[in-house]
Amino acid sequence: MAIPTPFMVGRVNCYLIEDDPLTLVDTGPNSGKALDCLERELAAHGRRIEDLERIVITHQHLDHMGLAGILARRSGAEVVTLDVLAPVLEEFGAHAERDDELAESLMLRHGIPRDVVIALRSMSRAFRAWGGSAPVDRKLADGEMLEFADRALQALHRPGHSPSDTVFWDAERRELIGGDHLIGHISSNPLISRPLGGRSGEPGAGRPRALMTYMESLRATRAMPIETVLPGHGEPVTDHVKLIDERFALHERRAAKIGGLIAEQPMSAYEIAQSLWGNVAVTQAYLTLSEVLGHVDLLLDRGAIRESEIGGVIRYEAG
Ligand SMILES: [Zn+2]
Repeated sequence: MAIPTPFMVGRVNCYLIEDDPLTLVDTGPNSGKALDCLERELAAHGRRIEDLERIVITHQHLDHMGLAGILARRSGAEVVTLDVLAPVLEEFGAHAERDDELAESLMLRHGIPRDVVIALRSMSRAFRAWGGSAPVDRKLADGEMLEFADRALQALHRPGHSPSDTVFWDAERRELIGGDHLIGHISSNPLISRPLGGRSGEPGAGRPRALMTYMESLRATRAMPIETVLPGHGEPVTDHVKLIDERFALHERRAAKIGGLIAEQPMSAYEIAQSLWGNVAVTQAYLTLSEVLGHVDLLLDRGAIRESEIGGVIRYEAG
């Protein structure tokens, strides 16, 4: 069921599992328009919100979990998430605030002007209206099975796009409910967020290295005998190995390009983003910073570049 969102990504795919218990995977954002659309989509399958018995959430982003609280209250459905996602869903506002604090300090440290940081912070607060908290009834450990009358889904932690990314694996049907872990028509952006434990803080300590975390997760998914990935946006993916290899190649190309820029002269991550994309919209400032830092991490890890600090701002130079 493709539910409208106010975000650039467009509609979000929510999945109805017509089994016992009747289950909804992801909810759409917290808006009247999304709720209205979800009700119509459910009606097309002969169901009402009140019929839902279980709500499963793939990750912490607003378009996937915003309606969870409202739907759970109306239906009495149990809410199920990976253990590391539960505290975020239960105290959404507090967690969003702490993510914003991390984003703010990272942006300043990497050279983004203070007025942009302040503008983005207030925009982020406004965006939060599309999210919402929900009580979590069942917390799954990484690898735990979620049983239905006619199937079992294995919950697997695949952090990177967000720290709580969870995929649900139906080994019998070789079907993976993927959330935003792997999307066919766009490369999932590994947004730097606070690690939530489990694999979400790997590899290494210090600043979260979201792209490296994401690539490790992709390697794990690549090794699985999947026939179809049911993604959080867009059409099903039927050749995940080819798509993941394309993603790896894309990230290598971007890392090489950024390495080339740094080789010419020392630059902050903000200056790198500017020379790649020009002056981006304020809303994109943190996305592009995450993108640059992800590739910088790959180069740092390989010893291709070095980090130095001038006046509180980090700069990168050829190693
Ligand atoms: Zn997402």
